[in-house]
Amino acid sequence: MKFDELGLRPDLLKAITKLGFETPMPIQEKAIPILLEGKRDFVGLAQTGTGKTAAFGLPLIQMVDPVQSHTQGVVLCPTRELCLQITDDLTKFSRHVQGLQIAAVYGGASIMNQIRQLKSGAQIIVATPGRLLDLIERRAAKLEQVSTIVLDEADEMLNMGFKEELDKILSRMPEKRVTWLFSATMDRGVARIAQNYQHDPVEVSLGGRNESAANIDHLCFMVHEKDRYQALKRILDFLPQIYGLVFCRTRAETQQVAEKLMQDGYQAESLHGELSQSQRDAVMRKFRNKNITILVATDVAARGLDVDDITHVIHFKLPDEIATYTHRSGRTARAGKSGVSIALINLHERRRISDLERRNNIKISLEKIPDGHAICENQLIALLNKVIDSPVNEEDIKEHLPAAYEALCHLDKKEIIKRFISVEFNHFLEYYRHAGDINVKPKFKEPGQGNQTQRPDNKKRRDKFEAYNTARFSINVGRQNQINAGAIVRLVCTHSGIPANQIGEINLGRDESTFEVSKDAAEAVKTSMNNVELDGRPIKVRSAGNSPRPPQGGRQGGPRGGRKGGPQGRRRY
Ligand code: AMP
Repeated sequence: MKFDELGLRPDLLKAITKLGFETPMPIQEKAIPILLEGKRDFVGLAQTGTGKTAAFGLPLIQMVDPVQSHTQGVVLCPTRELCLQITDDLTKFSRHVQGLQIAAVYGGASIMNQIRQLKSGAQIIVATPGRLLDLIERRAAKLEQVSTIVLDEADEMLNMGFKEELDKILSRMPEKRVTWLFSATMDRGVARIAQNYQHDPVEVSLGGRNESAANIDHLCFMVHEKDRYQALKRILDFLPQIYGLVFCRTRAETQQVAEKLMQDGYQAESLHGELSQSQRDAVMRKFRNKNITILVATDVAARGLDVDDITHVIHFKLPDEIATYTHRSGRTARAGKSGVSIALINLHERRRISDLERRNNIKISLEKIPDGHAICENQLIALLNKVIDSPVNEEDIKEHLPAAYEALCHLDKKEIIKRFISVEFNHFLEYYRHAGDINVKPKFKEPGQGNQTQRPDNKKRRDKFEAYNTARFSINVGRQNQINAGAIVRLVCTHSGIPANQIGEINLGRDESTFEVSKDAAEAVKTSMNNVELDGRPIKVRSAGNSPRPPQGGRQGGPRGGRKGGPQGRRRY
């Protein structure tokens, strides 16, 4: 199928051609004709990188009347980065549309500039939910005549605790509008949004629900916990051309892994919530320019990250949530390319692999960590390819060549090759000379060999784990500071780098609140929440002890079951 068969206007087709898009990607082929009719609500289950921005962006632009200056379309998305990316894409798609104004509004930037921009008129607003709500309340964003609302990465917006804001925004939208919802996964929260705010939507899915992209190879390596970092290094050494993302679970771990990699000579840096916006932008610039080729990131910090050619995603540690694994993996294999998702696991995590396979309908094959010989061979081939592909600037080297010929004239061709390889290579050979095998030899059914039946006592053990493995903190803000649970989740995630799913029950008080995090994440919260401010107010987070829940209490009636004000109603660890 071609773009001009989808029903798009010539001015949009011209812009697409200029962008070099030749044929529509599957989600575009499926969604654009439906969305252009402008009548039906829509659910698109698609990962980031599948071309979904154009899938909703082109019809959205075509639906808008640029002669009218009022706001007609709104796109909601979870992060500032994604907000800017979508705005940039929409601006490119609409370069031949006269009079169309697109405004990006997001938190963490001057609200006054955004108010000014909205006052001067924007037919399309691209926004993060918190800031848009603020602007609606200040009467700067006027949405009474909006006819199309797009929820992009709906699952991520819920993960980031925007449930309350979404509910408020959607309930204030005109009844007569269409709602297009895009999400990588269809979990309960997203299904609830669809149920409450959509009417008989058309559902289009790339693959099954909660399914990963088909062009990703999923691998895992099993090592002892003590060898996890060694295993990472071996994988990186085995892949000299890697342009990859390494995911860690906490900010502290992210920093630690990135620092070790840098010390060990890798072109790596970390991306986590403690970086200021300008530091974050600098890291991203280096990554995009490929001055660094390995980015070590927390899940929260990597949200909205839109880099097209990532070759590998490495889960240094597996996330708790299936959806997070899908999101992480979806950072590779974008724009029709293929990619590899690699999980490092220890013996105790093997069952999680079966779970991921079953729930995502994928196959994760257990591979062996390459040995020193294989690594050295790959490095050598990469080096030789680099030599072969290096451009020779005859003019510039001409005057230096005689000295070089003279210095090497006593060596024949074979000797020169040997020495040249040794210069680049001795450190690798030396490092891997005595490198042993760090693969764990499993004595059980291996991951990647199909699903395993759960032992009957699993649920009991998991409940016990959930009940005891949490720590509670108090925080000196509450309802009187106009704080909701979502704001607490975002504050904690941004500063500690822990994923939102590590936060459990949140109890909002008048001027003090408490929240619960998994024990694994407690250290990161303790060490990173000093010197933090919220709206100019110093924030104090103190340990409030372990959660006093009895293990047999179950969910119903326990504090978790009876949780109020939590962004997702119920969280799992
Ligand atoms: P998205 O999922 O919207 O972030 O898109 C992922 C990448 O694919 C972006 O870099 C887009 O510019 C690119 N893209 C989108 N549609 C097409 C297309 N039809 N042909 C080629 N590239 C595309």
